[in-house]
Formats: sequence, structure tokens, C-alpha cells
Amino acid sequence: MCLRPALLLGALVIAPTIVAAQSARPLPLKRRAQPTTAAITENDLMSRLYVFADDSMMGREAGTPGAMKGTAYIAAELKRIGLTPAGDNGSYFQDVPFIARTLDSTTTIAANGATLVAYRDFVVVPFRGAQPRAIDGTQVIFGGVVGDTAHTLTAEQAEGKFVVMRTPTGALVRIAATSPLAKAAGVALVGAGDLTASALATGRLATMTLPPAPDAPSALISLAMSASAAERLLGAPLQGLAVGATGGTILGNLKFVERGAPTRNVVAILRGSDPVLRNEYLAIGAHSDHVGYRASGPVDHDSLHLFLAQRYLVMENPTAAPLSAEARQAMQARVAAIRVNLDSVRALRPARRDSINNGADDDGSGSMTVLEVAQAFAAGKARPKRSLLFVWHTGEEKGLLGSRYFSDHPTVSRDSIVAQINIDMVGRGGKGDLGAGSDRYLQLVGSRRLSTELGDLVEAVNKTEPMPFTFDDTFDADGHPDNIYCRSDHYNYARYGIPVVFMTTGLHGDYHQVTDEPQYIDYAHMARVGRFVVDLATRVANLDHRPVVDKPKPDPTAACKQ
Ligand SMILES: [Zn+2]
Repeated sequence: MCLRPALLLGALVIAPTIVAAQSARPLPLKRRAQPTTAAITENDLMSRLYVFADDSMMGREAGTPGAMKGTAYIAAELKRIGLTPAGDNGSYFQDVPFIARTLDSTTTIAANGATLVAYRDFVVVPFRGAQPRAIDGTQVIFGGVVGDTAHTLTAEQAEGKFVVMRTPTGALVRIAATSPLAKAAGVALVGAGDLTASALATGRLATMTLPPAPDAPSALISLAMSASAAERLLGAPLQGLAVGATGGTILGNLKFVERGAPTRNVVAILRGSDPVLRNEYLAIGAHSDHVGYRASGPVDHDSLHLFLAQRYLVMENPTAAPLSAEARQAMQARVAAIRVNLDSVRALRPARRDSINNGADDDGSGSMTVLEVAQAFAAGKARPKRSLLFVWHTGEEKGLLGSRYFSDHPTVSRDSIVAQINIDMVGRGGKGDLGAGSDRYLQLVGSRRLSTELGDLVEAVNKTEPMPFTFDDTFDADGHPDNIYCRSDHYNYARYGIPVVFMTTGLHGDYHQVTDEPQYIDYAHMARVGRFVVDLATRVANLDHRPVVDKPKPDPTAACKQ
């Protein structure tokens, strides 16, 4: 699952001082792979996920060697299973031409006679997509404090300006398209003093992205800036400065260095049995990439895992609202509850320092489940009438870029894809992960947004399962603030009018953290998701007609709307 556009990208605040309790989980940190079977089993899924989410995969970030290694594993398995390659030039791979973009270290900007130097006075918060907006010749204006919506600039005041914002927590944010600052020329986020090591580390990260189209709109760039540099631009101390106070005029633009950073989708076909219907495809997908290393360095794994689980359970409700006093108290109580005897725990087990985002659930779980689904179909006696198109997308974490690329440049005719089933994060969903969680928990998103018939089929097939899922469709609601419908690969199929089903066991405390590891996965739950996908796919691929699209198709070039 990819980040919400306006979510925190990095912060100076995650340094939990809480003490680890002994984990009750019995699963090991490492596990030797065993040969997989035709059936979808817990053992098979473990054998696959302990490889795919191992530290040696380096967090599988698209545009890095880790993603190449992860996709090599999938392709090797497809070959062994005997699926037909359906990428470029008879291979399993569709190359996706990413670029890596970083702020040029020779960049300087000036105002009020002061010259600011990249990586000393400021860094750029990684951004996606288009070329950066020009800042040369724009006026510096003070915009107040991040999060203080009562004292802020209007959209008219911010438009075309270089806005300086104080961010007391040090949080580095991208500005949302709906923010009054969205039409600013640039935004500088200013913490308490000098740039921190964490901000510098985040600023050094390359942005992995597709080359922007020549006519793509320019992007608003957020900079992290030292307090003294911001004060020189404004010509006044930040403390006590009124919102709307203006400073000098910016001279110079941000310069970027770009290099090729190849990455790839993995694509395979299982031919259908019907001589006519085999020319149509049911697509089944997941994303193979994850988010790489933790930019700000290693943390104590056990402490972080416990802290995050508690924090997520408390923060789950109400969604996205700041913590109330009661919620904060409840969180403190929970944190206190896990603060057990540091000395004795540490005597048993030393702290494990961890900096790799393994992405076991996100989306190692979906990727390995789709591989098990492919193996089950390949080994099955009765082939479905329609062909199955398996796609492991890259760059999902960079803004659904691999699925965007595949749906723009499909390796089979786009019109021949009758529906897409997407699974992303299907290995958790228990009581310890979210309040509504259980053995049967599964979130369902998008299944009726284009085709009522497909939505009905999902419900009907579920009723025939040995252990039916309890579907949670909360996150499918129009306008839901978590924006889940727009945050995984199915959307890029839906924007072309292809009916989709998205299934996930949901977000949790370890989401996008170094603690998303194979030992926390519920393999029985995940295996049931896999068997459900097989049953649903069989039903859809054997229909005597395509799932009927009875809802309006979106504009494929418009922004996604939850
Ligand atoms: Zn993700």
C-alpha cells in the first residue's frame, strides 16, 4: 500500500524509549525454505515469504538492486511452475524506465544578500512525478506553523510565493493538492535549529520515478531548511513573526541530477481452456516493491514493534484526527503496560538494531500469495475457460507507477482484460493489529464501483468458502479519509473501466516500518485469502460473459477520487 499523498515522509520524533516486552510470537526470525506444493498452504507461503522479505532483498525499493533481486525470484519461480512469459521480448519482465533524481549538491539559492547552500542550509523532501516548480524571482513570505490552520496564509496569499513554515516536531511533509499552499512556488519547512541528521538523510534519498511527460504540470517542492537560513531569507527572527510577513526575493532555482534506475513488472499468463474465451484475461496482481532502507538509520526492532502496535490500536479511531486527551492517556496507559522489566528482557535477548524495511506484509504477502495462486492453477486439472494474467507491479510505493505503466502499455490488449483482482497486505488483520480484526477479517474495496455483478460474485463465492470472510467495506466509502481506493494498483485498471476487486487485511502498526517482518504474519489467514482468490478467479474466468460494467467509467487521465 502506498502512502497517502499528504502523509509524513520522515520525522525527527520516532525514537521510542519504551522497553521491549518479550514477544509472545513463536515464529522464527529466519527459516529455511522447503519445496512448495500445488496446494496453497501455510508452509508454502512461509517458505516463499521468508525468502522474499529477507534482509538480503534490501527492502525491494523500485529502482534499486533489491527490487531486481525480488523480481528475479518471482520470475525463476514462474519458470519452474511453467507459466508462459508475457513481458517484453518473450521474457517475464516488462522494463519500467525509472529515473533516480537527487538535489544537485552545487545548488545555491539567495535572498536578502544571503547565499544558502544545498545539504548545509536546506535539502529537498523527495517528491514524485513532474519537474520542480521554478522559485527564482519569487517573494519569501512567512506562513505560520505546520498544523495551525487557524493562523495560516490564504490560497491567494500563498500563490506564487516561497512560503516559510515552522515545523516544531521536525516533520517533513509534502503539501497536499487541497492545501491553501498548493499553488505556492516552494515551501520551506523549518525546525528548531540546524538541519538534523534525519532531515539530511531524508534529503539525500533519490526520488525514484518515471520520467515526467513534457506537458506534466510542475510540482511544488518542500524543502527542509535550517532556522538561521530561513531567518536570513525573511530578514527577521522567526519567533513572534506574524503570518504573512514578507522577506526578500529568491534568486536561483533548485537543480537536480538524474540517472537511469531500471525496474520491472513481472508478467505471466496461464492459457485458458476455451478456444474463444482464452483470448480474454482475468488479471490477478500484487506489488513486488517496497520502500528500501530506513533513511534515518537503525532502531531497536523489538521496542519499535511493541510501541507501534500499541500506538496504532489507539490511533485507529477516530481516523486521521489528532489524539484527544483521553486517547493520549489511553495510549500512555498501554505503553506503560508493555514497559516490563528492561533488565530481565535484555538479559535474555540483546537489542536488535534494524534498518531494513522488509515489507513482509506490504506487499510480500500479496506477491507470494499470487505466486501460490499461479502455482495452484498451473498444477490444477481443470483450467478456467479464460486466460489468467498474473502481474507483479513495481513502483507501487512510488505512486502506483508500475501499474500505471502496465495499464498504459499493456502486454495484452487492454480491452481483453475482463477484470482485475488486486491483493496488497493480506498477512495480518488479527485482533492484535486492529480493533475489528479477527481470523475472518478482510477489507473489500472497489468491488462494486464499476460492476455490481462482480461485487455480487465476490459475496456469493465467499459464502461457499469453508471459512467465509467477514468483509469490512468501511474503507470503500466515498470520500473515506484513508483514501484506500486510490492507494493500490487496482485503481490503474479501474481508471480504464476494468472492474476491480481489492482485498487487504488492512493497515497496522508495522506498516512501512522496519518491523514489517515475516515472523509477524498470520500464514493461516493469508492461505485462506489465497484459496479465496483461486475460487473467485475460477468463477469469474468461467463466466459465459464478461462481468457487466453498469457504473460510469472514470476519466483515465483524471486524479483518483475515493
Ligand atoms: Zn506500502
